[in-house]
Amino acid sequence: MRFKPQLLTGLEILQQRDRLSIKEQQALMRIQKGYQGELIFDRLFTAIVAEKVEFLDDIEIEFEGNRMQMDKIVASGDMLALIDIKNYQGNYYYDRQGLKIGNTLFAQDCFEQARRSRRIVERLFKKHGVTMRVVNIIIFINEEGSITINDEINEVVLNYVEIPQWLLQLKKQADLPQMKNWQQLLLQYQPSFYKAENLCNPRRLLTLKKGICCVKCGSFDLRQERYKLQCRKCGYQEVKRVSYYRTIKEYGILIYPVPIKRKEVVTFFGKNYSESTIKTLLSEYFEPLDFSIKDGRYKNDGQTFERLIFKNKKYFEQLNGRMNWKSS
Ligand SMILES: [Zn+2]
Repeated sequence: MRFKPQLLTGLEILQQRDRLSIKEQQALMRIQKGYQGELIFDRLFTAIVAEKVEFLDDIEIEFEGNRMQMDKIVASGDMLALIDIKNYQGNYYYDRQGLKIGNTLFAQDCFEQARRSRRIVERLFKKHGVTMRVVNIIIFINEEGSITINDEINEVVLNYVEIPQWLLQLKKQADLPQMKNWQQLLLQYQPSFYKAENLCNPRRLLTLKKGICCVKCGSFDLRQERYKLQCRKCGYQEVKRVSYYRTIKEYGILIYPVPIKRKEVVTFFGKNYSESTIKTLLSEYFEPLDFSIKDGRYKNDGQTFERLIFKNKKYFEQLNGRMNWKSS
């Protein structure tokens, strides 16, 4: 299961409410492109091999003080494949010196990063007596891009056209005896919090567009009924409680890792929305920063609403049933 990256979600929320700086626009485009590349790979992976193998998507691991992130990790036979997906355009070369495009040598490149990640997983496995072979797979997913390897290297490097063949091989290998429980082992080492830079300081927060933003079209022009909100522009309907909950989480992502403050949430919603509903939702869904004082501050996990819905599927299905509740 792949979720939209937290920073991508954050920048998209910011874009709905403010003009992005050049740096933010560039980051948004870069992360969007990377994410699109991952989705392209996922489609091939699902079509060819997904049901035969165990895998994890977009996984972060922290082991002995070192953090690594991997786009996909797949086990097949005795091999654990650490997959990096690069959605780069242009013709790249790799030799002893490093990664190049034309005559330009990259100061930091995906090969070094991949090797570092592999070493972290190898050390983790060694500690737990796991004997799986850890292999780096670096995939150049962009059809308008390519990589040529001019040296002996330990990594498997694939251009777009080579991906299906590799996936078929992976599928074949999946008939060999499989190592069990590697997912649980790695998941134990997921960091307990996101490492994310703050997107919005208190001063900028005040200048943002206020209100609830339509999830489908980005309009702030919503008609309020008792149990639901309807977008005047695209007609999309959302259960009111979901809209409020989602908007508080959006505010949370923007100010992360700073705690949630009730006053700020009320300002974020603007004067068209109910302060008492906000209060109710904060007390129901969020944990106070300090139980001993009622200061309107709550813990902020910075988690996206998409992940929250996934984790609480049943609850949200129930909540969405309110769409049919009558207003009178
Ligand atoms: Zn809309």
